Amino acid sequence: MRLILLGPPGVGKGTVAKKLQEEFKLPVISTGVILREEISKKTKLGQKVKEIMGRGDLVPDNIILEIIKERIKRKDCESGYIFDGFPRNVEQAKSLEKVNKELNEHINCVFYFELPFNQIIDRLTSRRVCKRCGTNYNLSFNPPKKDNVCDLCGGELYQREDDKEETIKNRLQVFIKQTLPLKKYYQEKKLLAIVNANTSREAFLEIKNILKKELQK
Ligand code: AMP
Repeated sequence: MRLILLGPPGVGKGTVAKKLQEEFKLPVISTGVILREEISKKTKLGQKVKEIMGRGDLVPDNIILEIIKERIKRKDCESGYIFDGFPRNVEQAKSLEKVNKELNEHINCVFYFELPFNQIIDRLTSRRVCKRCGTNYNLSFNPPKKDNVCDLCGGELYQREDDKEETIKNRLQVFIKQTLPLKKYYQEKKLLAIVNANTSREAFLEIKNILKKELQK
């Protein structure tokens, strides 16, 4: 199964992706996670994208597509994958279709995470991420048991550079202008399901039910 998790930043796509990974044994491909790893390793690519990401703008399509092409050809993607944060615009979606066609595969479902924008800003400013394992926390409704320490691995929690208030507004504008058109794009292709992203648990259960039915077909 090949899935796309689509939606504004901060709606819980990453958290739901991890739960789906466990449930359906599919790898998660998060372009944001891959790029942040490049930045923390101080690679050439990381240095190239650091400023762009810090501003909340999109990294150029050619860079993203190189990453995706290389990643989906790996053995662990043979029976499918879950995209989190890709595609981010119509160009990327069209390029993905080309790559999928070359590999004789296709996207099965696209899930759009729906949440009012005023809730998104609160979620992003109070998000904290584990430096070691990448688990997301929210200081308001999903805080760690011990301040600044990951419940799962004991790693230190940090605030993403682009979760600071100045950058959030730009990220939302970029989302509306460049990514939101994908909702209609995939609706027209009859691949889209809208899920309520009020809590990541609800979103996960909704997606799980849809996929279980899909698998029975
Ligand atoms: P995310 O972790 O998905 O919120 O992504 C963080 C940042 O990484 C974004 O604001 C972009 O700068 C960059 N990024 C992640 N995925 C993509 C993509 N598919 N296309 C362009 N830029 C991306």
